[in-house]
Amino acid sequence: MTNFYAELDQVFTQHAGSPCLKVPGGLQWTFADLQANVGGLAAVLKSHQVEPGDRVVVQVDKSPQNLALYLACLRIGAVFVPLNTAYTPAELDYFISDAEPRLFVGRQTRSDVPTLTLDAQGGGSLITQMVAPQVSTAGVPGVAPRKDNDLAAIVYTSGTTGRSKGAMLSHGNLSSNAHDLTAAWGWQQSDVLLHALPVFHVHGLFIASHCALLNGSPMVFLPKFDVQGVQEVLGECTVMMGVPTFYTRLLADESFPRQPLDHMRVFICGSAPLTEPVFEAWEGRTGHRILERYGMSETIINTTNPLDGERVPATVGFALPKLELRIADEQGNPLPAGEVGTIEVRGPNVFSGYWRMPEKTADEIRKDGYFITGDLGTLDAQGRLSIVGRGKDLIISGGYNVYPKEVERLLDEVPGVKESAVIGVPHADFGEAVVAVIVPDNADLQLQDVLAPLQDQLARFKQPKQLVNVTELPRNTMGKVQKNVLRESYAHLFA
Ligand code: AMP
Repeated sequence: MTNFYAELDQVFTQHAGSPCLKVPGGLQWTFADLQANVGGLAAVLKSHQVEPGDRVVVQVDKSPQNLALYLACLRIGAVFVPLNTAYTPAELDYFISDAEPRLFVGRQTRSDVPTLTLDAQGGGSLITQMVAPQVSTAGVPGVAPRKDNDLAAIVYTSGTTGRSKGAMLSHGNLSSNAHDLTAAWGWQQSDVLLHALPVFHVHGLFIASHCALLNGSPMVFLPKFDVQGVQEVLGECTVMMGVPTFYTRLLADESFPRQPLDHMRVFICGSAPLTEPVFEAWEGRTGHRILERYGMSETIINTTNPLDGERVPATVGFALPKLELRIADEQGNPLPAGEVGTIEVRGPNVFSGYWRMPEKTADEIRKDGYFITGDLGTLDAQGRLSIVGRGKDLIISGGYNVYPKEVERLLDEVPGVKESAVIGVPHADFGEAVVAVIVPDNADLQLQDVLAPLQDQLARFKQPKQLVNVTELPRNTMGKVQKNVLRESYAHLFA
C-alpha cells in the first residue's frame, strides 16, 4: 500500500460529478470540488515548505475546507495534528511545543510558529493563498509516496499524568480500518452520511468521514450537532454516527422523529457507553436498534456489533476481522471467557506509539505488540465483548475524555483549596459529568470560586459542573484517594 490519499483520490476521480458534501444552507461540493480544494490546499502547504513528515497543527472550526486540509496533508505526506477547538491558548502552547509543527492553522495567528488562518465560514489566509500567484503557478503537488507505517496523523489524547499524549497513526492504520468498517457496516455508494461530529477527533475525522469518502457517498455536513439541525436533514440521510449524547438529546425532544425513519439504514454509536435504557427507548421511538461499536484514538475502531445479526445492548460486539483481542491479567496473560480483565488489542489498526514518549509507549504496548487499552471488559463464549469499566480514572463527558489528574493539578492551586479529587458521575445528557470534590482550607467554596481561575487554563468540557466541599477525602490504607467511594457517594448528584 502507498499513501492512503492515493486510494481516496482514485475514488474522487471515479465519482467526480457526484455530490460529495453538503452544508445545509451553505456550500455543496461534488467529489471533483473536494479534489480541487485538496489540490489547492496542498499547493499552499508546499509554498510554506511543508515536507513529508512535517507536522501541521490545526485548531479550527468544522468546515468542508477543514476536511480538505486534512486530506491535503495526507496528499503531501505531512502529519495532520487536529486539536479540539475547546483547548485554551495555554493548552495550545503545550501542543505547539510538543508537536513542533512546520505550520499552524488556527482561528487566530500566533507569533511563535508560521500561521495561516481558517474561519468557520471557510475563509482566512489559508484559502486566499490558494489563488496567490506563487501558489497557482507552482501547480498541484503530486501524491507523496508513503509506506504503510509512515505517520499520517497525531491525535492527542488526555494523559493520565496530566500531559496529553500524541497517538501516532500511520497511513496503514487509517486505510485498513476504513476498509474494515466499510465491510462491517455494509457501506454502499448510495448511502448518505449524517455528519454532525467534530472533525478534530477520530470519530468524526476518520471513522465517519472515511466510510463516506472511500465509497464515494455523499455526506450532509453539519457544523455541529443540534437537535433541530439533525431533525431537518435526517429525511435525506441513511446512516448516522454519533456519541450517546446525540441519542439522548434527540430522545429528549418530544417531536422526534418528525417523520418515519424507515429509510435509515443504520444508527451507529460509540466513544462512550450507550446505556440499555437509551438503546431501548431509541428502538421504541424509531424502530431501529442502535449499532454500538468500540474504539479509541490509539486504535480507531476495535469491535462492532453486527450489521446483520443480533445487536445486544450494553455490549460492543465482535473484534474486526484482522484484530486480535484478548482479555488479560496484569501480566498480559489471556483470561478465559466470562472473566473480567484489561482489554488488549493487536492489529493493523493499532497505533505505533506515543509521539516522543518512548517510556509511555513501552508502558502501554507490550513486547508482543498488544496495546493495553486501559478499558476493562469481558468476552462471552462467542467472542462478544462487554466493557465493564475503565482501569484508569478516565471520565468521558459528552464523548470527550477528561483525565482527573489534569483538573486536580489546577484545582489544587486555586486559593482556598487544600486538596481535591475529580470524578465523573452519571449525567443524563453528558453520560458523565465532571465533579470536583474539594477539601477547603477554611470556608466552603462555591463552584464559581474555582471556575474563575480555571477558565483560561482548561477547555470547557474539562471544567467541573458541580463542586462538593468535604472535610476529608476517603483514602485506602496506602493513602490513595478512593475514587470509587466518591463516585458512589455522589452518583445521584444529577439524578
Ligand atoms: P477516545 O480516545 O477519545 O476516542 O476515547 C476512547 C475511550 O472511549 C475508550 O478507551 C473507552 O473507554 C471509551 N469508549 C469508546 N467507545 C465506547 C463504547 N462503545 N462503550 C464504552 N466506552 C467506549
